[in-house]
Amino acid sequence: MSAASQQHNRSLREQFARVVRDLKQELLPEDEAVIAAFLSAERHVTETELQALVGDAAIDTSQVRRTLRMLCDLGIAQAVRLDGQTTYEHLHLDHHHDHLICVRCGRIVEFLDEDIETRQRDTCLAHGFTPLMHRLEIRGVCQDCARALPVTRALSSCLRGEVVEIGDVVGGHGLRQRLLALGLTRGATVTLIGNDGPVVLDVRGSRLALGRGEAARIIVRQPQSSEHGKAKHGQEPG
Ligand SMILES: [Zn+2]
Ligand SMILES: [Zn+2]
Ligand SMILES: [Zn+2]
Repeated sequence: MSAASQQHNRSLREQFARVVRDLKQELLPEDEAVIAAFLSAERHVTETELQALVGDAAIDTSQVRRTLRMLCDLGIAQAVRLDGQTTYEHLHLDHHHDHLICVRCGRIVEFLDEDIETRQRDTCLAHGFTPLMHRLEIRGVCQDCARALPVTRALSSCLRGEVVEIGDVVGGHGLRQRLLALGLTRGATVTLIGNDGPVVLDVRGSRLALGRGEAARIIVRQPQSSEHGKAKHGQEPG
């Protein structure tokens, strides 16, 4: 841990002690153990990871969750949510940052871009809007996960937002004919719009839905042209 983040964590610990004193909050020994582990942790821990850091078999994840909720209520911790998983980080008053979140491995990269921050403030100003807080989260695939992806894979295994190129179709003449009629020819570039149940694609600006069985038989690969790899603006995954 760097000297700066040690300093940050020390001041967070002092501020926490003050808030507890001000509120005359009663802390259980279990709370104390969880809080000590959380405050000395590097950023972004799940409940399970924090429980392991506490290293006390008597303290289970529901205790960890209770203490973390209290820390969130007191403005000491904040939650970062990704689909089913919640990660917690220290909430430093003088240390704003935004997140790149890998949807494959859950890795979180922190960044601060002053140009983006300025543009956001200007946008609010232009709309006569008083910003209270913001959080910029870019969901995507980290470099390690991107490297680990096989060159070709089934369309059904792709993630929402991915842009892929249609390759071979495994299976009968019937499916090939149907895909051809739908405009899903080999080499066509498509964007996954949905992959919960049916696989929904954006094919040259129109929507197309396939059954999971069909999508499992369509082999795709990364588009040849990097122009196609540019991320589209997406909605929050469901
Ligand atoms: Zn920001
Ligand atoms: Zn990753
Ligand atoms: Zn963070």
